[in-house]
Amino acid sequence: MNASTPHGPLPPEEFQRHLSDFVRQHFQSGETASPSTQAGFEPPPPGVETKPGAFEFKLKPREVKEYLDRFVIRQDEAKKVLSVALCDHYHHVRMALEGAESPNYAKQNIILVGPTGVGKTYLIRSVAELIGVPFVKADATKFSETGYVGGDVEDMVRDLVRLAEGDVARAQYGIIYIDEIDKIAAAGNLAVRDVSGRGVQTNLLKLMEETEVPVRSPTDIAGQIQAMMESQRGRKSPGTINTKHILFIVSGAFDGLEKITRKRLREATIGFAAREQPPETSEEVLAAAQTRDFIEFGFEPEFIGRLPVRVVCHSLNADDLFLILKNSEGSIIRQYEEDFAAYGIEVLFSEEGMRRIAEQAGGEQTGARGLMTVCERLFRDHKFELPSSTVKRFVVTGDLVENPAAELKEILVDPGLEERQVARQLVQEFARRFQESHGINIRFTEAATDLLVDEALAKSQSMRDLCATRFKDFQFGLKLITRNSGPQEFMIDRDAVEAPDKVLSEWVVASYRKTA
Ligand code: ADP
Repeated sequence: MNASTPHGPLPPEEFQRHLSDFVRQHFQSGETASPSTQAGFEPPPPGVETKPGAFEFKLKPREVKEYLDRFVIRQDEAKKVLSVALCDHYHHVRMALEGAESPNYAKQNIILVGPTGVGKTYLIRSVAELIGVPFVKADATKFSETGYVGGDVEDMVRDLVRLAEGDVARAQYGIIYIDEIDKIAAAGNLAVRDVSGRGVQTNLLKLMEETEVPVRSPTDIAGQIQAMMESQRGRKSPGTINTKHILFIVSGAFDGLEKITRKRLREATIGFAAREQPPETSEEVLAAAQTRDFIEFGFEPEFIGRLPVRVVCHSLNADDLFLILKNSEGSIIRQYEEDFAAYGIEVLFSEEGMRRIAEQAGGEQTGARGLMTVCERLFRDHKFELPSSTVKRFVVTGDLVENPAAELKEILVDPGLEERQVARQLVQEFARRFQESHGINIRFTEAATDLLVDEALAKSQSMRDLCATRFKDFQFGLKLITRNSGPQEFMIDRDAVEAPDKVLSEWVVASYRKTA
């Protein structure tokens, strides 16, 4: 082969140059590191700047929603409403930071209504990571009115500063998420909680409006002493945090709100010849809840008035849980893959296995949290036994989920059992995930698969690692080709496995010729 002929593959430097041009054009923000620590997060898309001190925000609601779709399954309405509210809020923040704040802006604080484990926290955390702002989650039941017993609501604001690594400016446009807000509603006849709940609402209201919170807590004796010492040494005190641009999101299951709303809706239809079909399901009714229903539930009118955006998150059934396992980039199965990979073991979840896990998790009635409970129980013994065995690969089949102990015994007796077959399936899985992550179809020929399997087994290497390193440039190279000659399916044959760079550059050259 002559690398420099016009019809041969591109010389490596030329190919590299094409690749870096392409990367620069399409993934410019890839150089700005994502603040994320969560597995599976990629650098934020163009439009998001995460450099400390600077705040650029150019995202559109559809882009935010598309990002959330990668992690959060279902909850479409919630994702839409949140995307709009967040974009409005952060466009406003950007204007304010540029000195062009609109005086009439009402902050888009949000109420999320929904049962436990359906993705409320996950939504907010993902969006905070996308935007690159600090995010604090707290539980409303932990606060007391005085702040002496339990926590002080202002501590959340100070936590934002801590998470922003002392950058007060960045903390001032962070997100505070308060769960179990329904527990501080003053409804019912719990006289003691009545008083405290109302007090906490008032304190929260102050934060949601605008107030200055001292960076050092008045109840933090050690902090106060430190502040005193610092000021004696002539150091500037860190001052206060303004809460005007902090976005507040509160959530809860709101048991009882449905009944209140249903009653109002029923009364409203009396006397009218049923013009419209009244909402039927609990979720439809909750979505129709209005300010007055929240007030009847036990919130102060001023408090609820500061939370204009209301969203209902749906409960998740076994099919949804299956999709979460299979498709969410934050799926718990990725965590198990990593846990086992740490011991050089590859675990592969079959469709049937995932279905059974989802069914069992559905019975737990704790939303997607049920998936964690089921997996923890399921893999307890595998995690204990396999790292000390010679087992390198295993598949989570339906049978394994139904009968983990017996299946474990079987692999331990014959660790090489079905090893080739599992390795082959891992090659298929690589192709499937490649399609999911990059939107490009690749397929492996039988011969190519065999070659990869032989190599992985001979070197006792993980198939996922082998494919990832062997085809590391394919993501960019194939995108380049797709851009030149339109979407297509790429067949990876023996040659491509043996000499991936050579084959890829031949394909790239051919695609340029086609365009020319
Ligand atoms: P809650 O609604 O109680 O705030 P979380 O958001 O904390 O629930 O969910 C717990 C975990 O379950 C999340 O970290 C995520 O891994 C998973 N999860 C929950 N709902 C979804 C969903 N709709 N899509 C994907 N994963 C989800």
